[in-house]
Amino acid sequence: MLNETTTDYRAIAASLSFPVDAYIGGRYQPAKSGKRFDNVNPATDEVLCAVASCDADDVDAAAAAARKAFDAGEWSRAAPETRKEVLLRLAGLVREHAVELAVMESLDSGKTITDCLHEIGNEVPNFFQWYGELIDKSFGKVAPTGENALALIVKEPIGVAGIVLPWNFPLLMAAWKLAPALAAGCSVVLKPAEQTPLTALRLAALAAEAGLPDGVLNVVPGFGETAGQAIGLHGDIDVVSFTGSTEVGRLFLRYSSDSNLKPVGLELGGKSPFIVLDDARIDDHLVSSAVSAAMWNGGQNCSANMRQFIPQSRKEEYLDRVLARIRALKVGDPLDPSTEMGPMVSREHQERVLGYIEAGIREGASVLTGGGPFDDRPGRYVKPTLFDSVRHQMTIAREEIFGPVLGVIAYSDPEEALQMALDTSYGLHATVFTQDIDRALHFARRLACGTVAINAFTEGDIKTPFGGYRQSGSLARDNGTEALQQYLQTKTIWIASRQA
Ligand code: NAD
Repeated sequence: MLNETTTDYRAIAASLSFPVDAYIGGRYQPAKSGKRFDNVNPATDEVLCAVASCDADDVDAAAAAARKAFDAGEWSRAAPETRKEVLLRLAGLVREHAVELAVMESLDSGKTITDCLHEIGNEVPNFFQWYGELIDKSFGKVAPTGENALALIVKEPIGVAGIVLPWNFPLLMAAWKLAPALAAGCSVVLKPAEQTPLTALRLAALAAEAGLPDGVLNVVPGFGETAGQAIGLHGDIDVVSFTGSTEVGRLFLRYSSDSNLKPVGLELGGKSPFIVLDDARIDDHLVSSAVSAAMWNGGQNCSANMRQFIPQSRKEEYLDRVLARIRALKVGDPLDPSTEMGPMVSREHQERVLGYIEAGIREGASVLTGGGPFDDRPGRYVKPTLFDSVRHQMTIAREEIFGPVLGVIAYSDPEEALQMALDTSYGLHATVFTQDIDRALHFARRLACGTVAINAFTEGDIKTPFGGYRQSGSLARDNGTEALQQYLQTKTIWIASRQA
């Protein structure tokens, strides 16, 4: 699977037939309005296909199908091992179709084929497998009562889950949310991002093939202001899980308050620090961690560590190494397996990222490499950009850029670095490099964020909860056993006994 060439992937791309309709109640169907929107390949600016543009009427139909399936109980009240079997079959089908799905996702998003294959060939199926295997090992509780009662604390599926997705990891984010929601027994109305609707639509058919009953998974492609808002405001959707911008996260809380007070799980990105302490070894591992922390997936990553805090005394050494690595990054055709970075996801997003780069230059940071688009190629590419002399008050150090930009902020005292790192409204992730375990633990405890990585850039894995402190999110978490809790509600059954 990993040995194919660009020519092979292009041939697969040419043979793909794109799923372009909504998937509601077990069948593909156009939007009720008949409207469609162009789905564009950001590497070439070519239109791939015209996708159904769903709005409130389609969300109503999807929510009704989801409710009907939930009430019928074929999935929601099935024995956990029955749900497990279907999720394991789905994991197998995703693995079987991984190359097709990866090529589709690469065309749709501009993500590199290598990343798409890794995510879709490994991580996505692992999510369906892991939550499938978890659900028949998740026990309720018995409360300590006297002998005159038996108090059972049981978990039940919450009902219909609305899932609204971002475009940066399209099928992986779908799996992060769908796997626990389906394992819990919920029915789902899922809206992929308008930039990247294809793989979620294809997944719906694979889920049906795996044995998921009709109506349990409904996929409504469309825009945020139409389909997304309709999910947020829907009175018969019981919970929403959203990943995306802070601005839209706020809207989902408002939608909930204006409708049925549905719980809302939010994952809203960040402005994460990468802190190198003065005892750290600046070796190949640190340098490649630093560059991928800022630039993996073209920097279109919620946990991107764009703000890099470096001791003044080590800055020149750091910049030399990091600059060489960034200059060596291979930016180009996403279907070429040797490409390390593709284009930004869309024209609009490319403009947003370039606007931030201009702001950095205007506010006095100095560009050591990159600093603009590529003039010699079509597509939405941005040159990997390294900024020196960043100050933590600058726009580029405060706002989420979501592009291939690394900014170096020099510090003279570790406490100063910590305070600058904390001076943000976000709190998703941080990385600290040090050889001193005491300093590592000190920073890990003091950094106000959901994940602290020591001596590597990592978000953890499927077993570790992922989510933010502060305005990076709400209390809900993706991944690990915690994710399941978003889609379950707790019931107490108190059985009184007069006999004891
Ligand atoms: P966005 O938040 O606008 O979109 C994310 C999802 O929300 C999409 O499915 C979109 O259709 C939907 N949406 C948009 N407006 C909506 C509305 N009014 N009501 C309901 N749903 C709505 O993100 P974007 O515009 O695509 O990107 C903007 C910025 O958001 C990025 O530059 C980045 O900083 C951030 N972002 C963060 C993540 C993350 O992983 N946390 C992912 C994508 C984008």
